[in-house]
Amino acid sequence: MAALTGAGISADSGIPTFRGKDGLWRRFKPEELATPEAFQRNPELVWEWYEWRIKLIKEAKPNPGHLALAELNRMGIVKCVVTQNVDDLHERACTTCLVKLHGDIMTARCTSCDFEIKWKDVPKGVPKCPACCSPLRPAVVWFGEPLPQEALERAERLFSEARAAMVIGTSAAVMPAGKLPLLTKSNGGIIIEVNPEPSALEPYVDIAIRERASVALPRILEEVRKLYNSNKT
Ligand code: NAD
Ligand code: ZN
Repeated sequence: MAALTGAGISADSGIPTFRGKDGLWRRFKPEELATPEAFQRNPELVWEWYEWRIKLIKEAKPNPGHLALAELNRMGIVKCVVTQNVDDLHERACTTCLVKLHGDIMTARCTSCDFEIKWKDVPKGVPKCPACCSPLRPAVVWFGEPLPQEALERAERLFSEARAAMVIGTSAAVMPAGKLPLLTKSNGGIIIEVNPEPSALEPYVDIAIRERASVALPRILEEVRKLYNSNKT
């Protein structure tokens, strides 16, 4: 099985989603903040927003959903977790196989050269590259930007080969990530959705678990463990 996660899995860790009812975009318009044009126009505003998000993420902890998914990954039930999230909660939950499609908010990179830095503290203002003095930007994929090719190809392979795709906490509205589970489906597999609300994938979903990820995933893990144990005896 391959898993695709979105902002919803981190919602129970206190990190707002983009499109849910507490979504970030209720207060900020994406086109004002998460585009290369917005950054050129107003890097101070964009960094102010990222400073706020980085602070939230640093204070957050992986929730039982991240932890259960990491355990399913260690058990080999979930071969790999592909995430659209830019937070580091899957890493901190010790997920062993993780593909990050939209980059990493805890990393910044230079807008001119190859310099990259991983944040220990929350950055202040517009950080400058120590090598060439150009502004640094968050190492995330913004609207209108291509996904990292290698990560996308790996994700496409995983979902094409999987017999089941578990889609957790994503509206599946952002492409191409939202289409990955359809690769599983078109190769004869099934789609399992964990989301209190139906996503754009609803017409293709075979099993819908309309529950928060932090509740549903530990239950799935418990059921899988029961099956494992009964098979052993
Ligand atoms: P989205 O905001 O479009 O959708 C969130 C989905 O999560 C909704 O379908 C909602 O019903 C569901 N949801 C809300 N609470 C949930 C819960 N407790 N359990 C399970 N599902 C829940 O998010 P998306 O689809 O990930 O959007 C994609 C973009 O959002 C990506 O580019 C991603 O980088 C970015 N994003 C990331 C973070 C993060 O890293 N934590 C936060 C916000 C946005
Ligand atoms: Zn530089």
